[in-house]
Amino acid sequence: MGHDSDCIFCKIIEKTVPAKLVYEDEHAIAFEDINPQAPIHILIVPKKHIRDIHSIKHMDRELIGHLFFVAQTLGEKRGLNNSGYRMVINNGRNAGQTVFHIHLHLLSGRAFSWPPG
Ligand code: 5GP
Ligand code: ZN
Repeated sequence: MGHDSDCIFCKIIEKTVPAKLVYEDEHAIAFEDINPQAPIHILIVPKKHIRDIHSIKHMDRELIGHLFFVAQTLGEKRGLNNSGYRMVINNGRNAGQTVFHIHLHLLSGRAFSWPPG
């Protein structure tokens, strides 16, 4: 499904690199961030290798929307809706993107400041 052999997230999707999975379906996977920035820090990742927001194609719109549906499912499952959570996409180098396979950060379990750093 458009996997990139040099991509760490594609390897996690293919299960050749281990990760603490918290959700998986046909189109997406979610796992705990290896370097958590909050008590809950989950990465929600499409199984299709899409490099960044700029690389999203017209046909990917439903897939990208599905990632937010996964976030909602995880939020409900873990009771995050009352306290709140933050969703982040770092897009491009200046935003701090380090893994070039698009992903949503779901951060929760503490208060976050605004604006972000
Ligand atoms: P970015 O900076 O690209 O928005 O986010 C990449 C995130 O992926 C970082 O928060 C980083 O800690 C996480 N990460 C990088 N490599 C791995 C890995 O091999 N396993 C897991 N679980 N997370 C990773
Ligand atoms: Zn990938």
